[in-house]
Amino acid sequence: MVQSLKIEIERSTAKKEKPPQDQLGFGIHFTDHMFIIDYAEDKGWHQPRIVPYQPIVLDPAAKVFHYGQTIFEGLKAYRTENGRILLFRPRKNIQRLNRSNERLSVPQLEEGIALDALQQLITVDEDWIPTEPGTSLYIRPFVIATQPALGVSPSTHYQFIIIMSPVGAYYTEGVNPVKIFVESEYVRAVTGGVGEAKTAGNYAAGLKAQEGAKDKGYSQVLWLDGVHRKYIEEVGSMNVFFKINGTVHTPALNGSILAGITRDSIIQLLKHWNIPVEERIISIEELYEAGKNGSLEEAFGTGTAAVISPIGELNWRAEKLVIRDGQTGELSRKLYETLTGIQTGTIPDPFDWMVEVR
Ligand SMILES: *Cc1c(COP(=O)(O)O)cnc(C)c1O
Repeated sequence: MVQSLKIEIERSTAKKEKPPQDQLGFGIHFTDHMFIIDYAEDKGWHQPRIVPYQPIVLDPAAKVFHYGQTIFEGLKAYRTENGRILLFRPRKNIQRLNRSNERLSVPQLEEGIALDALQQLITVDEDWIPTEPGTSLYIRPFVIATQPALGVSPSTHYQFIIIMSPVGAYYTEGVNPVKIFVESEYVRAVTGGVGEAKTAGNYAAGLKAQEGAKDKGYSQVLWLDGVHRKYIEEVGSMNVFFKINGTVHTPALNGSILAGITRDSIIQLLKHWNIPVEERIISIEELYEAGKNGSLEEAFGTGTAAVISPIGELNWRAEKLVIRDGQTGELSRKLYETLTGIQTGTIPDPFDWMVEVR
């Protein structure tokens, strides 16, 4: 494994025009540079470089195209009011990337190198970090298998690449609850599969259900477990929480659920506030029961993109469950304000989560 490599920097000569900050959207515009490091069996990870953002050329037989040996991550950098640049728990993303790597037989990346790559790339493109409230620089690290060979076996060659995109405020008119369709036909993942890895196939597998939900007027699906279609797993690509009778419940990590870093942060915050929180198996029947007897107080999804996404309505087997009259709950709002406040440096960070790039 390589250590303390020097990253070569080739600066772009033509700078792209930056989009207006009120029209950023999500993952549409990309910064001027990208990071790449190669892997070969005989050399390990080598030749780390920052180059102008550009297409990558791959052999059509590259294994990533045929067998999906690929992994990604998602995290954000924020510009504080006094001009500092902060990353939210980046080591957690690198550690999760390595857990995904392990599951997909991809060689491990050294944490220090990945963190160094992140910091240097952000520094090179720092004028791309938007400053308007709610905006941030979304960072997408990913690994692809590049060996040109059709035999089904782990690739001998890989690339680890980081691209970055300035993203707009997720909520432009305040935090708004979404309607969620409970999926009982398709499943996202099963225990023993790759559900707990951030790998492309999980998302391709979810598109069909997501499309169906959209057609019915719902913004996301709530996934149930792949064996019984009974136990709650996740909402789209977010983890999910329910406040029932004053206690916050979230599905326990069972091998098919993605271990969200926002999820972990929410659990830590709740514990810090002495709000009881339980990680356990939750059935959809139990949730509907709580909804009907009035003990279900709030429901929300958690993830890097939205941070907190309150759920205002569920639809399971054509039965609708309206939560809190479709309004954002007090706890959801407080969690959103606290977490985004810590991330943007406007409130203190008692957990030492933020890493200063500069
Ligand atoms: C990325 C992701 C999440 C959320 O993870 P965060 O680290 O909080 O962004 C949850 N579920 C799935 C399926 C994901 O891909």
